[in-house]
Amino acid sequence: MKSDASSIAQGDLQELSPDVVQVRMLRELFARTRESAIVGVPPVLLLGWAHRDAQPIQYILYWAIAVFFALSYRFLVGHLYLSQPQLQAERRRVWFVLEWVGAVALAAVWVSSIILLGSGAVDALFYLRLIFLVALAAFMLSALGIDIRLYASFLAVIVVGTLLVLHVYFPQFVAAVPVVTVGLFVYAVMLLVRSRGEHSRTLEWVRARLTQRILMDQLNQTIQQELAMHEALRIKSMELEATNRKLNELAIHDGLTGAFRRGYIEGELRRIVKGAQRKPSEFSVMLLDIDFFKRVNDQHGHSVGDDVLRSLAKLVQTTLRENDLFGRWGGEEFIALMPDTGMAAAVDAAERVRKAMHTLQFAGTRGPFGVTVSIGVAQLETNETADSLTHRVDKALYAAKHAGRDLVLSYAPQQE
Ligand code: GH3
Ligand code: MG
Ligand code: MG
Repeated sequence: MKSDASSIAQGDLQELSPDVVQVRMLRELFARTRESAIVGVPPVLLLGWAHRDAQPIQYILYWAIAVFFALSYRFLVGHLYLSQPQLQAERRRVWFVLEWVGAVALAAVWVSSIILLGSGAVDALFYLRLIFLVALAAFMLSALGIDIRLYASFLAVIVVGTLLVLHVYFPQFVAAVPVVTVGLFVYAVMLLVRSRGEHSRTLEWVRARLTQRILMDQLNQTIQQELAMHEALRIKSMELEATNRKLNELAIHDGLTGAFRRGYIEGELRRIVKGAQRKPSEFSVMLLDIDFFKRVNDQHGHSVGDDVLRSLAKLVQTTLRENDLFGRWGGEEFIALMPDTGMAAAVDAAERVRKAMHTLQFAGTRGPFGVTVSIGVAQLETNETADSLTHRVDKALYAAKHAGRDLVLSYAPQQE
């Protein structure tokens, strides 16, 4: 990618070789040749029509056909040699010779209108033809002026031919208007000087067009690269976001059960307890442990044990309210934090979980089996710490185990 203005300018100079410019100039010449061939038709028709009564019709036809032929020839040569994508030097040389012949022939044919269509008298038609030739010489400037050699040849034939014809066929006119000889020469020199200006302006225009195209291409390329980079960056940042989300998930969720990890749930517990101290509210926790889980592992294998843990987590999560937080406390022990929940409602919820466990059946090695859970429940007391609360709920669970399992026991504050 170009980084500064000077390197862009250098790149252009390398690409704007004289050859490229010359080819572009020749194409410009062909375009103008095409236009001048089309624009040349009306004068032929007009001149022919103006002579319809003054001349035998075949003279008019001979001349008109000659003009058409010369115009078509130039057009054809341009088309054959200049419209190819590749313009080798050899091709260009052949084209130049053919185009030179065409330009000279065209000029001669125009001049011949004075003889062929001449009525022998100095009349209005004669002036008309003279003016046509002068206008033609000026008009051809736009096409042939691109190559000064071509234009000089065309002009030479027009001027010398016209003067020759005038001196030979219309001596009385030259004698009556002697200034016409000098006038034609002076005008030809003026046109030649103008053709230099035309040439350099066209050259400048062609260079500007080419440079503009190169710059536009470079700009386009830069924009494309920039867009591609933006897109790549956008995709990368999306991937990064997704990875971050996944990492976050992994950081706070237990891989096996999807419940919150102990570290996260402990943090939440402390946060809620602190909040309840500032603004008193009811808050209860339940601690749940699977009964005789060791046996499940022993009898059915560890992977069946894992299935039990997964199913239990799913069941508890659907049984609890949405804003309760459910986490894995360790092994096959789970904890549920229940904000805005008093003891009675917490015990109800625990009972719901305990009973729901009775509905679960697992495919064991020796047929289907079920598991039960023991649950301890405790409600946060005024000014109680998180540690004290977990200590009490643990005691309640321990008591439930001792009382025979598949039980919910709560820890009342005054109770020991
Ligand atoms: P109790 O009724 O007294 O709770 O009896 P228990 O057999 O459940 O006893 P204990 O709580 O001591 O046993 C927990 C067992 O849970 C021991 C351990 O192998 C198993 N365990 C802990 N984590 C996992 C786990 O991720 N997957 C499986 N399959 N087993 C686990
Ligand atoms: Mg246990
Ligand atoms: Mg257990």
